[in-house]
Amino acid sequence: MAQLSNERVAYINGKVVPESQALVSFRDRSFTYGDAVFDTTRTFAHKMFKVKEHIDRLYRSLRYVQIDPGISPSELAKISEEVCERNLHLIGKDEDYWVTQRISRGVDVPGDEFTAHSGPTVIVECRPLPLKARAKLFRDGIRIVVPSVRRAPAQSFSPRAKSHNYLNLIMADLEARSQDKEAWAVLLDLDGNVTEGMGSNYFMVQDGRLMTPRAKNVLPGISRQTVIDMAAKLGIPFEERDLDQYDMLTADEAFLTSTSLCICPVSSVNGAKVGDGKVPGPVTQKLCKAYSEFVNFDFVAQYLRHLKA
Ligand code: PLP
Repeated sequence: MAQLSNERVAYINGKVVPESQALVSFRDRSFTYGDAVFDTTRTFAHKMFKVKEHIDRLYRSLRYVQIDPGISPSELAKISEEVCERNLHLIGKDEDYWVTQRISRGVDVPGDEFTAHSGPTVIVECRPLPLKARAKLFRDGIRIVVPSVRRAPAQSFSPRAKSHNYLNLIMADLEARSQDKEAWAVLLDLDGNVTEGMGSNYFMVQDGRLMTPRAKNVLPGISRQTVIDMAAKLGIPFEERDLDQYDMLTADEAFLTSTSLCICPVSSVNGAKVGDGKVPGPVTQKLCKAYSEFVNFDFVAQYLRHLKA
C-alpha cells in the first residue's frame, strides 16, 4: 500500500504534487496584477458541497475576464474531488476543508510588454476550515462595522466575478478592524446601498421579511442562493432590494452567509445591537435548521464543538 504523506497535495498545471512543490512564478499575472479568478467550495463531513454550482460560477468568472483555462469544467471538478480525497487523511473526523480552484492568465514573457504570456496557471488546493477561530462567532454573533471605503462599482469591475484582486475588500476590513479588531466589514456602494463583506453576503430580517442586496452589486454567493431556496421552502417572505445603513440599524435580525460560515448571525452594526442583540434570532434559527437539514450536516454544532477544542 502506498504510504500516506503528512503534507497536503495540490494540483498545479497537470500534476498533483506536495504543496511545497506547487510553486508559481513571480512573473505570474496573478501575482503581478491579481489577474486571476478563483472559486471555493467546502466539505460537509468530508464531502464536497455544490461542486457544480461553484465550478459553473468559476467558468462565468473566467469568461468575464477572458481567460481560457484550457480544461473543461468536468475535468476540473474531477481534479477537485481527487485533491480533496487525497488530503482527507490529514484532517480530523470533525474537521472539514475549503477546496479552491485558482486560474490565472499565466506568466508574462519578459520583453513582450504585457502581450505575451505562457497560458493559464491552473491550481486546485485545499485548506482546513478555520473552525476553531470562528467558533465564537456562532455563540456571540458577528460584529459588523460599515467602513468609509465603498465597494468598487460594478461599472469598473463586476463583483459578480470572483477575482484574485481583493484589495477593495481588504481596505474595508483594515478600516473595520482598526475600530474593533474582531469586526467584519460590510461595505456600502457609492449610492449608500449595502453590498457585501470580504467573503460573505449580507441578509437582514424586518417584520418577518428576509431581505438581501440585489445580485448586481455582489458576488452571487452559493450559500446566499441556498438561503434563498430555504426561505422559499419555509414560506418566509423574501426580497432582493436596495438596503441602506438605516435598514441595517433598524433590522430585527441580520446574518452573513458564506461557504465556510453557511449562516452566521450578526449581533451588532457599528456598535448598535441588531434587534435585542441576542443571537440567533428566530428567523435566522429557522434558516440554519433548514440549511443543516439540506446539507445533512449540523454546521452550527460543528462550530460550537470547536469552542472547546
Ligand atoms: N462575497 C464575496 C466577495 C466573497 O468572496 C464570497 C465568498 O466566496 C461571498 C460573497 C460568499 O459566497 P459563497 O457563499 O459562494 O461562499
